[in-house]
Amino acid sequence: MYKRIDGKAISADVRAGIAEEVKALNQQGVSVGLAVIIVGEDPASKIYVANKKKACAALGIVSEEYALPEDTDEATLLHLIDELNHRKEINGILCQLPLPKHLDEKKVINAILPAKDVDAFHPQNVGHIMIGDFDFVPCTPAGIIEMLHHEDISVEGKNCVVLGRSNIVGKPMAMLLMHENGTVTVTHRKTKNLKEVCLNADILVSSVGKPNFVTADMVKEGAVVIDVGINRVDGKVCGDVDFDRVAEKTSAITPVPGGVGPMTITMLMKNTLTAAKRQNGILK
Ligand code: NAP
Repeated sequence: MYKRIDGKAISADVRAGIAEEVKALNQQGVSVGLAVIIVGEDPASKIYVANKKKACAALGIVSEEYALPEDTDEATLLHLIDELNHRKEINGILCQLPLPKHLDEKKVINAILPAKDVDAFHPQNVGHIMIGDFDFVPCTPAGIIEMLHHEDISVEGKNCVVLGRSNIVGKPMAMLLMHENGTVTVTHRKTKNLKEVCLNADILVSSVGKPNFVTADMVKEGAVVIDVGINRVDGKVCGDVDFDRVAEKTSAITPVPGGVGPMTITMLMKNTLTAAKRQNGILK
């Protein structure tokens, strides 16, 4: 019998803790503030930004949204980031990706002050993650580690396989699993014998972005399977894992929706709280 890991319930637990901490800070006269920048009209990005705003409001975090038109030039965007970098009451800054093609994503990420980079995409924060001395971790991998801890699933000594090597999910996920003393393999399009690699996994994390990519014959009996994928098939959201057939083989598995997804915004809130504590000298 497998455990269906309930990302919504874990997320609610973590959020309750964050709300309490925000309240305690407010009582000390410290506010927690997040600025979210969105450029253009990408429908998915608009939904993400709306959800982030809602989460902030529920937890007592002050949020400011900057919705800029699609044709915003680089100088205007960089100027806004510079202003936000200097504002004391803004603890975290997030620029929703992807940006319109004419804007240089790297330049924009680099412009955010590392201490306010609550997405942890700035190269300085990426370096901190690499050496295992960090405040912020990209929200999706951070949420997965939080879920594993919550479920008392130990990573130590386990074979962990991460499918996908993006800067946002795959690479930081691999780093965090390594910091937890897992033995980590990262796969991509050029990986040979993918099925055999996956069959060796005690913990399998899929961040490929293809429905039914992970099939039952790729999963070891008793493995833990974490599905990061968000795909749409016939208007319905699904992950990368053929859930109905894979679940029976696992000891624990995350569903989509209701697994990793809810944790991502929660970890953004946690990073923003950490930023506020650090900037106010509460966290040394
Ligand atoms: P991405 O940048 O497109 O990366 C996908 C990775 O999968 C790449 O490393 C790619 O390999 C690999 N891949 C693709 N097809 C493959 C194949 N046939 N065989 C082996 N490897 C293959 O995507 P991402 O940003 O990491 O996101 C991955 C998925 O997670 C998406 O569905 C996204 O929507 C979802 N996501 C969910 C959350 C959440 O909160 N739940 C957050 C972020 C992302 P190469 O490097 O060789 O191209």
